[in-house]
Amino acid sequence: MDAFSQDYVGRKFSEFYASPSTKIPAPSAISEREFAFFLFKERIMVRHRSVASLNGLRNLLCESKPSDVYHSCAYYENPEADMDKKGWLGADLVFDIDADHIPTSCDKVHDEWKCGKCGFSGKGITPEVCPACEGQKFDARTWPCERCIGSAKDETAKLIDMLENDFGFSESELRVFFSGHRGYHVHVETDSIRTLDSLARKDMVDYITGLGLNLSRMGKVGSDGKAGQRAFGLHKLGRYGRLKQDMRKFIETATKDDLGNAGIKGGASAAILQYKQQVLERCIGKEMWDSVRGIGDETWFKIAEYLTNLEISVIDTVVTSDIHRLIRMDGTLHGKTGLKKVEFPAADLADFDAFTEAVAFKEGKTKVSVSCAPQFRLGENTFGPYTNEKLELPTAAAVLLICKGRAEAVKD
Ligand SMILES: [Zn+2]
Ligand SMILES: [Zn+2]
Repeated sequence: MDAFSQDYVGRKFSEFYASPSTKIPAPSAISEREFAFFLFKERIMVRHRSVASLNGLRNLLCESKPSDVYHSCAYYENPEADMDKKGWLGADLVFDIDADHIPTSCDKVHDEWKCGKCGFSGKGITPEVCPACEGQKFDARTWPCERCIGSAKDETAKLIDMLENDFGFSESELRVFFSGHRGYHVHVETDSIRTLDSLARKDMVDYITGLGLNLSRMGKVGSDGKAGQRAFGLHKLGRYGRLKQDMRKFIETATKDDLGNAGIKGGASAAILQYKQQVLERCIGKEMWDSVRGIGDETWFKIAEYLTNLEISVIDTVVTSDIHRLIRMDGTLHGKTGLKKVEFPAADLADFDAFTEAVAFKEGKTKVSVSCAPQFRLGENTFGPYTNEKLELPTAAAVLLICKGRAEAVKD
């Protein structure tokens, strides 16, 4: 972002926070939270701030002109003190579901990454370590794509279902937000979880993602007459029941390519596709896992492991198990998009439209020079795709492109 564009976006963000029409909801127990800001100009994070009231926070926002605003999921006696002297009182349980971790058919089109150490680059999801040099720092170029955010929404629906039906939280204990970029946040705010330690929180994530499920039943007598072989089997309860549902859904719609992605090839793949109905009824429905010729224990292990591995990457374990975590504040702007983090009722998830509800800048237009951008929608309006174009755009679209590094503001 050049200096002129940075000035432009910084000014728009300050106007947003200074405007009397901007409604920023206060987090619960506001005086017990640590606040933090990322500053536009200095590119630094200011931490360990606290406020007595929402008014105090508004003043702080107008003064510091931040690109991003965070508060602790934790409650502290002294939010401004050093970490070890804060006096931890408890923390909300937070889940972060981001399209960055969900494989989609379009991420290879609009997402790219480049290793910060050796320059090796690729398309799609940014790897944890560089395949060339094992470096762990990357420049990622992603896009808040509607379809990718849609997959994050599906995963959020699954999470909410588990929190309500497996853990027994009521809808009033759950708060659901669009993050302002590429995903959703789910917060659980209730006494029963407030003082859970990091390990207990990690256990909850492991249950939700299906980490460590035992997929074997022991004691099966193999064709060689020996007992105790690795044989596939699922318990009836809890997370195992959900895995079985996922396996059913997977088989129902599986193509040869889908099966190939799960490592199922050759005869097993052909058998599943040819005898789909029997597979669904007998193998999955009656748990007679080896009742269709050509499909054995190894096939089921592969499918179950493939599906649980997909789940494991979806929720950011580090976020949920960190009891001091800073999370983006509701109602504030995301520095990578200029969209707001917004809350909505869990029951409205299916109909929630991020690209309408999260739009912050509803007035004015500005000239930009766009390098390249895929087609996107804000509210009723569709923009792009653009390649090396100079044009005038509504403020929200211009800010999004500039924040994503796809455009620069142009002097009139
Ligand atoms: Zn590298
Ligand atoms: Zn996409």
